[in-house]
Amino acid sequence: MTAPDRPQPVVALRGAMLSWAGDPFVVGAKRARRYDADAIVAMAGGRIVAAGPAERVADALPRGAKVERLPRDTLMMPGFVDCHVHYPQLPVIGSYGAKLLDWLERYTFPAEAAFADERVARRVARDYLDENLRQGITTAAVFCTVHPASVDALMAEAARRSLRLVAGKVLMDRNAPRALRDTAKRGYDESKALIARWHGRGRLGYAITPRFAVTSTPAQLEAAGALWREHPDCWVQSHVSENADEIAWVRKLFPRDRDYVGVYERHGLLGRRAIYGHGLHLAPREWRALAATGAALAHCPTSNLFLGSGLFRWDRATKPGRRVEVGLATDVGGGTTLSFLRTMGEAYKVAHLAGTSMPAAHAFWLATQGGARALDLDGKVGNLAPGFDADLVVLDLASTPLIAQRLRHAADVDEALFVQMTLGDDRAVLQTWVAGRKVHDRDAATGSRP
Ligand SMILES: [Zn+2]
Repeated sequence: MTAPDRPQPVVALRGAMLSWAGDPFVVGAKRARRYDADAIVAMAGGRIVAAGPAERVADALPRGAKVERLPRDTLMMPGFVDCHVHYPQLPVIGSYGAKLLDWLERYTFPAEAAFADERVARRVARDYLDENLRQGITTAAVFCTVHPASVDALMAEAARRSLRLVAGKVLMDRNAPRALRDTAKRGYDESKALIARWHGRGRLGYAITPRFAVTSTPAQLEAAGALWREHPDCWVQSHVSENADEIAWVRKLFPRDRDYVGVYERHGLLGRRAIYGHGLHLAPREWRALAATGAALAHCPTSNLFLGSGLFRWDRATKPGRRVEVGLATDVGGGTTLSFLRTMGEAYKVAHLAGTSMPAAHAFWLATQGGARALDLDGKVGNLAPGFDADLVVLDLASTPLIAQRLRHAADVDEALFVQMTLGDDRAVLQTWVAGRKVHDRDAATGSRP
């Protein structure tokens, strides 16, 4: 147990626990995955102060510590990390029949234009974070709209809930409706003011957010790169190589650049803490550039399937000696769910279609510690271990009759986990804890907000 400066009340959960001892892509599933059938996670002051086998941790708990015993067939695990999502698109999730560029025109831009009204931003921010917690997502990297108030609304709501969250105002100064365009200078000034207002406040971080190369002039990308150099502990988030028409358009707009990744590279937008959605059709040089700079990718399987964009190539991302950090992401509203179990299930199918595979341990790692690593939040979230933020999920491993009967036939924990990512959804999220506080309890939920 670490000793906090002031004694903080200790709250503990006792039950089965999934945590990480390594990276399954490097050491294999068996050595990476830790499973303790009877474990205790003790939390104080928003952090985990002890986690491990119950017989070891129980003795170290202070007298009077409150221990909640979890029901059988449940599993404590780190909260999910959503590496790429657009909260303003929640109202258009599941819109029919369009590919990326058409989809932006028909659904995304009108939905984002509604955020000129701050009341819309506040309402959708609440709905979005409510849904996140119901799904066990405790950390996210979030695109807002071009309006600074869309960032204020989300950040204020996240601060109220003590969430760890990275977000930023979208930069767009061309190829978008007039009402959604800023300019290179205005985008820079507004982002800088938002950094001053929110970056480092509580567990909030700011992400410099050019939507993608199509909607930013070279001047705007340059300004974004300059802003990142001035604030190197901020994040950068954008999109890259999602769809064939988009890639062709980028080539036309930036004829002097070698490739799509090269556009961001030349504007100083690659590096650790830069995370790009998709990366479906990258050339070998682009993979090398991402790996060499430490820039990460967010894999968004439900979005890639829904918009018919293509298949992510795990084999290329995890090539030894040229590893690119990858996190999993919902990409709502192109993505069709905020359920991370559903997202993992679709990631498995994408891997299958692309000729590889996605064992359960790998998928659960990507959904937690892998995502934390992609966002450079390793050591803070993504694992259940002393010093980590006390953000966790309790899964109900028998959440439906179908899953309950299947669980009886599961030979080991890996099979039980695989069943969750194949058959499970929001009903499997029994509890969500944020900063050591229970913020979602499926069985007690009455529709009241946390
Ligand atoms: Zn996106």
